[in-house]
Amino acid sequence: MDALDSSTLRTEQPVRLHRPAPARPRAASPWTTDAVLALIESPFMALVQRAHAVHRAHFPEGDVELASLLSVKTGGCPEDCGYCPQSVHHDTGVKAGKLMALPEVLVAAQAAKDAGASRFCMGAAWRSPNDRDVEKVAELVRGVRGLGLETCATLGMLEPQQAERLAEAGLDFYNHNLDSAPDFYGDIIGTRDYQDRLDTLARVRDAGIRVCCGGIVGMGETRRQRAGLIAELAALDPAPESVPVNNLVRVEGTPLAGQAPLDPFEIVRVIAAARITMPAARVRLSAGRRELGDGIQALCFMAGANSIFYGDRLLVTGNPDVAADRALLARLDLPVAGAAAQEAAA
Ligand code: SF4
Repeated sequence: MDALDSSTLRTEQPVRLHRPAPARPRAASPWTTDAVLALIESPFMALVQRAHAVHRAHFPEGDVELASLLSVKTGGCPEDCGYCPQSVHHDTGVKAGKLMALPEVLVAAQAAKDAGASRFCMGAAWRSPNDRDVEKVAELVRGVRGLGLETCATLGMLEPQQAERLAEAGLDFYNHNLDSAPDFYGDIIGTRDYQDRLDTLARVRDAGIRVCCGGIVGMGETRRQRAGLIAELAALDPAPESVPVNNLVRVEGTPLAGQAPLDPFEIVRVIAAARITMPAARVRLSAGRRELGDGIQALCFMAGANSIFYGDRLLVTGNPDVAADRALLARLDLPVAGAAAQEAAA
């Protein structure tokens, strides 16, 4: 499909179509959209084989990172992301909550660690936090790090001093996804633009925090636009250390609820392209994993995925349960990354 098919959208919450991204300088990268498209369009088995070779060269241990995600502040978000049930623009039944208190977060983080996670990601449904919010999240970061977990936060757009405060608190990663290719972005989100994303990513980098940045496939974008997303990610300088690839979760009440599912083999192709173009990154099989089934997930691991979101909930949508994930990794003889995970598995 060339662009989002408007017949699949709920008429009361239309997505704004074709809002152009502003012109901006781009880092020199060998991975142009054309080059990534050629990769994605290469014969499936050859593509997976090539990606697997790159993967083994950069991750010889072949382990899989387990990252747990907790929604520390749910719903009520003023942004209009067409895929997101937490937006106030969509009628999804998600209730807005307050920022969770430190003790509650620590209980969840300890449970994630006990289940084998090595990274704990905290998501808050904000357009951009205020400085008081940042101070509270900094407390959460210090607490979670004190448990021996890597920390990640996704809080929306940051000002430079906010990124610095989070860095001082010891935040290891900041997640801020590009979501899609620039020429599709305006079909999905109208309340901010691509450059806003890039600006926050630059501030995170400047503060010395590692970057977790990926996108979503299956939103009605073309294959070329999927290639465009990967090309944009690979052109970030330096490339993100973590690259989450999300398969759209079609949540009732969002404008994308009626979107036709993407061919799962296409997701494998995108994973392979991410691995080849960003060989040192942890490529994370993220939202929408439940819909893929064990066989496709195995192909994704073969093609270079080496991180998963782990836990029973993913912000406000479901995720494969912990026992099923551990069983799948064991069936595939895939070791779990991280000391905490190893202890839990012992
Ligand atoms: S994806 Fe994030 S920014 Fe967009 S509506 Fe959802 S919570 Fe808000």
